[in-house]
Amino acid sequence: MTDEQHNTHDGRSDPQPSARSDAQSDPQPCAQPSAWPDSQASAQPSAQSGAQPGAQPGARPDPQPGAQSGAHSVLVECPSCKQPGFIEAWPRINSARDIEAKKLLMDGRLFKYTCPVCGTAVSMTYDCLYHDVEHKALLYYSTGALSEDECIKQLDHLADQAEWDDCIAPGSYQRRLVLTTFEFCEKVRILEDGYDDRVIELMKVAIKRGMLEEGIIGKRDIFVYERTLPNGGVSFITMGEVPGDAVGVPQGYTYLKDRMADSLAAVTGEYRYNSAWANRFLP
Ligand SMILES: [Zn+2]
Repeated sequence: MTDEQHNTHDGRSDPQPSARSDAQSDPQPCAQPSAWPDSQASAQPSAQSGAQPGAQPGARPDPQPGAQSGAHSVLVECPSCKQPGFIEAWPRINSARDIEAKKLLMDGRLFKYTCPVCGTAVSMTYDCLYHDVEHKALLYYSTGALSEDECIKQLDHLADQAEWDDCIAPGSYQRRLVLTTFEFCEKVRILEDGYDDRVIELMKVAIKRGMLEEGIIGKRDIFVYERTLPNGGVSFITMGEVPGDAVGVPQGYTYLKDRMADSLAAVTGEYRYNSAWANRFLP
C-alpha cells in the first residue's frame, strides 16, 4: 500500500494554517539552538489559507496528516505591511521522498515565512505528519487544532498502515506526538542521527539533575540535542538562564540505553516523550 492510499480519513476538522509575527523572537529552532523554543501554536491569525496561484478563490491546502505528501502554496498576509505572499506548506512529509521539506524542517525553516517586501519574519504553523521511512517512525506535530486523542487516533491508524505496508510486526513503528515546532524539529534530527529519542530525553534529565546539584545550571534551563561528537558521544546545547553552553557526553547514551532497555521495552501507550515524561520515568 502506498502513502497515497492512506488518504482515507474523514470527518475531521481541517486545521487552518496559522501565522504569527516573529518580530520579538525568531527561534530558528534547529539551525540556531541557542534561541528559545517556539511557543505552542499561539496563532495570531494573520494568514489566510489556500489561494494557490491559479487556483480557484477559496481553494485551500489540505493540512490533514492523512493527505499524501507534497507542498501546498498558502497565501499569507504580512502582519506588518499587509502585503500578500505565499508559503509552501507541507502537511505531510515522507523522509525518503520529500527531501526538500525534510531539509527545511531540520534547518528550522519549514514553518517560517519572511515577507519579501518588509522583511518581517513570520511563523506559520499547521498540523504536520513526518514519516521517517528509514527509522520506522511517525511524528505528528499538532497545533492543537485537533484534540490529543484525535491526533493519537490518526497516528495509530497511519502507523498501523505503515507496519502493514512494510510487513513488520504491529507496534514496531515509533509513534510520537509533539506540540511545538521546536520539539518536532529536534526529534526529527535525533531520529536522523540514529538515536532513540527516549534515551536522549532521559540523558537530558540525568545531566540536568547533576548540574542542578552542582549549582551550575538553573531550574528553567533546558537541554536541546545538538549533534554526535567525533568521539561518538552526544552533545547538547543549554538554553535558558545561561544559553548557548554546549555539554558533551562521551559515553552516556549507550550506557543509559543498555541500562534502561528493559524498562523502556515495557512502556506502552506513550506518545509524548519529553522532559516531563523523563522526569517521571527516571528513578
Ligand atoms: Zn511585510
